[in-house]
Amino acid sequence: MAAGPNAAAGPARSPVKLVFLGPPGSGKGTQAEVLAEQLGVSHISTGAMLRDAVADGSDLGKKVDGIMRSGALVDDDTMAEVVRDRLAKDDARQGFILDGYPRTLPQAETLGTILSGLSGRGAALDAVVLIDVPEEELVRRALARQRADDKEEVVRERLRVYREKTEPLIDHYRGRGLLRAVDGDATIDQVTSRILGAID
Ligand code: ADP
Repeated sequence: MAAGPNAAAGPARSPVKLVFLGPPGSGKGTQAEVLAEQLGVSHISTGAMLRDAVADGSDLGKKVDGIMRSGALVDDDTMAEVVRDRLAKDDARQGFILDGYPRTLPQAETLGTILSGLSGRGAALDAVVLIDVPEEELVRRALARQRADDKEEVVRERLRVYREKTEPLIDHYRGRGLLRAVDGDATIDQVTSRILGAID
């Protein structure tokens, strides 16, 4: 039998595909960045992409600027377009950590559709990492940061929106056996090791 290029190394591993979930201030962006670096995959942050669009003054940026400042969510159709385009790029096909998407149940459905439409094997997500942090700690952390959408009332609004729109994703992914919950009330390094242990 003809041996393929990967025969000596055993079966080829499919690219790592993770979603990071957590309330604003949970440290999910920081952890996504660190882990993406360690795993050698792309860190895809929809919040960072939208902030870049605002900074560039693009059509997308003009559309989302006010929405982001208010603490509300950008609409699902707009986000579907942003994420579909991003996941189609070559680097994303080599694996990714998706940070900030999905944030609603319809977005989770859309992500499933996008992934199953991408060619290649192992299109499905490997795991969804939930970084859990108590509410008082979240508010304390958020107020210590200095971002345009970090004013106290906006912080509270973003937490409210998270509870209402994003938390249902926890049960959604738990039901699919994908959820890996990690206690995020610890140092950055400790949380990183907990995540690595959880996705092993
Ligand atoms: P966090 O501090 O929670 O990590 P992000 O940087 O991920 O926040 O996102 C900042 C803002 O960008 C959100 O409050 C929202 O307005 C917008 N946004 C980012 N991702 C999405 C998404 N998947 N759906 C809707 N809006 C989004």
